[in-house]
Amino acid sequence: MKPSDQYFLPTYEEARRAFRKRSTDVAAVWPEASLTQYAVGKPENNNTTDIIAADAKYHSNTLIVVTTGVHGIEGYAGSALLQLFIDEYLTQLNPNTTGIRLVHAVNPWGMKNRRRVSENNVDLNRNFIKDWSSVPASLNERFEKEKKHFVPEGPVKSWKKQRRDLLGALGAKVFKRGVYGLEKAATMGQYQYPTGIFYGGAAYEEPVEKLLSRMDEWVKEYEAVVHIDIHTGLGPAEQLWLQVPHSDPRKEKELQKQFGHPEVNDVQKTDVMEIKGEDAEYVKDVYSRRHPDKYIFSCLLEFGTIGNRLPDQMRALDIVVHENQYYWYGAKKEADARELQKEFHQLFDPPEESWKQAVLKKGKAGFDLVLEKEAGMRLVKK
Ligand SMILES: [Zn+2]
Repeated sequence: MKPSDQYFLPTYEEARRAFRKRSTDVAAVWPEASLTQYAVGKPENNNTTDIIAADAKYHSNTLIVVTTGVHGIEGYAGSALLQLFIDEYLTQLNPNTTGIRLVHAVNPWGMKNRRRVSENNVDLNRNFIKDWSSVPASLNERFEKEKKHFVPEGPVKSWKKQRRDLLGALGAKVFKRGVYGLEKAATMGQYQYPTGIFYGGAAYEEPVEKLLSRMDEWVKEYEAVVHIDIHTGLGPAEQLWLQVPHSDPRKEKELQKQFGHPEVNDVQKTDVMEIKGEDAEYVKDVYSRRHPDKYIFSCLLEFGTIGNRLPDQMRALDIVVHENQYYWYGAKKEADARELQKEFHQLFDPPEESWKQAVLKKGKAGFDLVLEKEAGMRLVKK
C-alpha cells in the first residue's frame, strides 16, 4: 500500500463512500454536524454532490467552505484534500465560533466519468456568470476564428497527424501574435459551441445552480466567509499556485507578500478580462456586494501537472482538443483512444505517487496559509 492510498481513491464511488464516513469524525467536534447530498442529473444515475456541514456552536464568526470537483476529474485530488482537511484541521478550528462546509464533487458526473466538464459538456468554472446578459454567445472572437482547430468534427483519424496539424497551424500564429494569445483564446471560455472545449453554457448548469442556492444561505449566517476551491492541471508538475480572483482589492504583489510560503510556488490574481464565469470571482464579488458588512475571501488552490512553458501549454491544448473530439465522435484507432484517455488523466489526475505526495504536502501548506491569513486561525504546527 502506498502512503497516498488512504487519501486518493480510484473511483468516484469509493471516494464518496470514504468522504461520507468521515462525517462521524466531524461530529466528534461539532455534535450537530450533518451529511447531506443532492442529486445531479437523473436520481437513478446516483451522481451526488455530498456536503458535510457543521455550524458554530455559539457565535457565527467564520465559515470555511472547501469545494472540490468543479472540474469533475480534478475531484480525485479534491476528495483527497477534504480527507486531509478533516485529519489535520478539525481539532485546530474553534467549533464555538467557526462553521464548515466541505463539498465533495460539485460535478459528480465528470468525476465518475473522468471528464472536466458536466454531462452537458459545460465547463462549470466558466459557468459562474454574474450577469448572463453581459455574456453574448459571440463573446470569444478569437475562439471563433480558430474554430476549425479548437472544435474539430468527425472521429479522430490519426492523433499523431492531427497533433502535427494543430500545433503547426497554431505554432505559426503563436510566432506572429505572441506566445500566450492562442492558449488564452482557447481557455478563457466560449459560449458559442456546445460540443467545444471550455464551453461555459447558456445559463447556470444544474450543479452550479444547486450549489449557489445553498451558498446563498450559508453566507447569510456568518460574519466572514473563507472559500477554497481545489483544482489540478495548470502549472508545473508538483507545484502549487494560489489564485485569487480579480475583485480581491489587493494587488498581486501584496498578495504574493502576504501568502509567501516555500511550498506555495506562485500567487496570482485572475484577470477577469481573460476568464469569465469562475467560481472564486463569483463568490468574492457577488457576496461582497450583497453583504457589504461581511468579509468574503475566495481562492483557488491549483496543483500543477505538466508545466506552463509554451510547449507544455500546446501539449495540454492538443490533449484537451482531441480528447473532446474523441468523446463526441470516437477514434478510428484503438491505440489513439487509449492514448488520449491516458494523456488526459496525466493532465488532470496523474497516477504518480510523487505527484500525490506533493498534493498532500502542498495542500496542507495552502490550507495553513489561507486559514491563518484569512480566517485568523492560530494553527498548532505539527
Ligand atoms: Zn480545474
